[in-house]
Amino acid sequence: MVDLRNRLLFRFAKKWIAGREMAGAIMAAKEANSEGKSVLLNRLGEDITDFDLTQKHFNEYLALEDSINQNDIKGCVSIKLTQLGLLLDQNLVRARVEKLAGKAEALGQLFWIDMEGSALTSKTLKLYADIFKRHKNAGVAIQAYLRRSEDDLDELLEMGGRIRLVKGAYSEPHRLVYPDRREIAENYSKLMKILFERGEHFTIATHDSKLIDAAKRLSVSHRVDFQFAMLRGIRDDLKLKLINSGYQVSDYLPFGDEWYSYAVRRIREHPSNMLLLARSLI
Ligand SMILES: Cc1cc2nc3c(=O)[nH]c(=O)nc-3n(C[C@H](O)[C@H](O)[C@H](O)COP(=O)(O)OP(=O)(O)OC[C@H]3O[C@@H](n4cnc5c(N)ncnc54)[C@H](O)[C@@H]3O)c2cc1C
Repeated sequence: MVDLRNRLLFRFAKKWIAGREMAGAIMAAKEANSEGKSVLLNRLGEDITDFDLTQKHFNEYLALEDSINQNDIKGCVSIKLTQLGLLLDQNLVRARVEKLAGKAEALGQLFWIDMEGSALTSKTLKLYADIFKRHKNAGVAIQAYLRRSEDDLDELLEMGGRIRLVKGAYSEPHRLVYPDRREIAENYSKLMKILFERGEHFTIATHDSKLIDAAKRLSVSHRVDFQFAMLRGIRDDLKLKLINSGYQVSDYLPFGDEWYSYAVRRIREHPSNMLLLARSLI
């Protein structure tokens, strides 16, 4: 029964997931490239406390960077620190990230670090600052729902860091975050304005039309290098419109067996997906 439920859910979730294996992800990346999008490839998995599994994920990212290069893919990897061992050993994860960022740099690729739950924000930013000193191709996500993010953004801009602005996807203690969607969007808008005024090479990662329109307006008055990024399978029509209007757009392509929690997060994020899911099961 669980197996059947998972199979049905996977059929539905496939629009968001670029396959279970690296080969599927590379095919999806080629397709996205052919539509004018660059890609951010994420091997699914987080909060891993099994050493062997973190080693496996590390090796897969090394292989993925080679595969991006060999297949001439326009794009790079985007990793989560807890899949590479952040919950086990900070020195270990630092050494692995150093290796991955260095390899990406040597291959002419960017290297992104996703931002996870608020218990890891400081550790993630500290590690990022250290890696960025040696690898200017490295970037990190900042979450607009966190009250602390304006200060974090300021520090990142001071050091010239590469920033991807997102709203934030985790369930957080109320005291740390803005309480509702309107205030989160307002803070996103505020941080985005700061990015256009002081930043360079940043990414506006949202599907929110109002924020995307605001970014387009800001890009007229501030001629800086930036790109939009969205998740695979969400607002694909808007991505193409942006590309046709001359904007750079990236597709975030997650892949791997651990698709379940990713799919559940996307469904929770947008209740209309629940309805679509129900319909697909009938
Ligand atoms: C490239 C990229 C990288 C990301 N990296 C991180 C990260 O490192 N850390 C992190 O915490 N979060 C990350 N996120 C997720 C992000 O924090 C949000 O959870 C997610 O993007 C939804 O927020 P939104 O800005 O699109 O706004 P929302 O207000 O959620 O959505 C705006 C509009 O977009 C459409 N939409 C949004 N989500 C869906 C959906 N699931 N199904 C259908 N339509 C939808 C709808 O039209 C909706 O009205 C990333 C997002 C992107 C796009």
